[in-house]
Amino acid sequence: MLRAAKDAAEAADRAKGEFLAIMSHELRTPINGVLGFARLLRDSPLNDEQRGNLEMIEDSAQALEALISDILDLSKIEAGKFEVESSPFALRRCLEQVCQLLQPRAREAGLTLEARIATEVPAIVNGDQLRLRQILQNLIGNAIKFTERGGITLTVDCVRTETLPGDTRRAVRLQFAVSDTGIGIPPDKLALLFKPFSQVDTSARRRRGGTGLGLIIAKRLCEHMGGAISVESRPGEGSTFYFTIMVSYQPGDTKEPFAEGTPSETA
Ligand code: ADP
Repeated sequence: MLRAAKDAAEAADRAKGEFLAIMSHELRTPINGVLGFARLLRDSPLNDEQRGNLEMIEDSAQALEALISDILDLSKIEAGKFEVESSPFALRRCLEQVCQLLQPRAREAGLTLEARIATEVPAIVNGDQLRLRQILQNLIGNAIKFTERGGITLTVDCVRTETLPGDTRRAVRLQFAVSDTGIGIPPDKLALLFKPFSQVDTSARRRRGGTGLGLIIAKRLCEHMGGAISVESRPGEGSTFYFTIMVSYQPGDTKEPFAEGTPSETA
């Protein structure tokens, strides 16, 4: 009886995930149409009022695009249709690129953004670079959004290394911490953070954009990469989001693999 109920619930969950995935996919086409034509309109002669209205259309369409992309991501993960990549990449360069990407946003908000990477963190690791970037961009992006003054620090350490059985590679647990000096999160809201669509304060003042799906996606991605995510926070003082992932590396390997998408000059 219990078993049948559990199977039915799981099947319903899967059906819901698949429905969401198809829906979000179908929604992409019209939203791309709206964004594309809004861009074309931007280059035509417009008066100030029309330009203001066009900006509203673009802002709303971009917010909808972000929401669709997050729903698609989460539904793929929840429907079990998600696989973690494992290929070599230069970890430090990846972290630098994420910081470079977000640096202008931090500067614009008058905030500092620094990274401290422990020397024992391996140069080249095998893992899912794009998903790691996604988690970091979400956490650092949130830190910028919810910080008024001060700054954001990313620290990276290795927690544990072990030799993989029958292999010369080693498995290592990387620990990341994203700290900010922002508004913080009340203790009674901490448990809600990693639930879908949860936003601590949805009032106009604190609602600084976002879908409320970033942290649940980050949590699922960490779990798929053999790690976990947690948070410590003091209202008015700031927050630190910790997460871990497992990667492997070849001791002594410092040679950078080709950057993704970089065409080989000699080919
Ligand atoms: P989003 O940022 O898109 O709203 P998230 O799932 O990434 O969604 O975050 C959920 C909520 O958690 C945010 O709306 C915010 O209330 C809170 N939050 C996340 N990161 C921070 C932070 N660094 N400082 C304060 N609050 C945060």
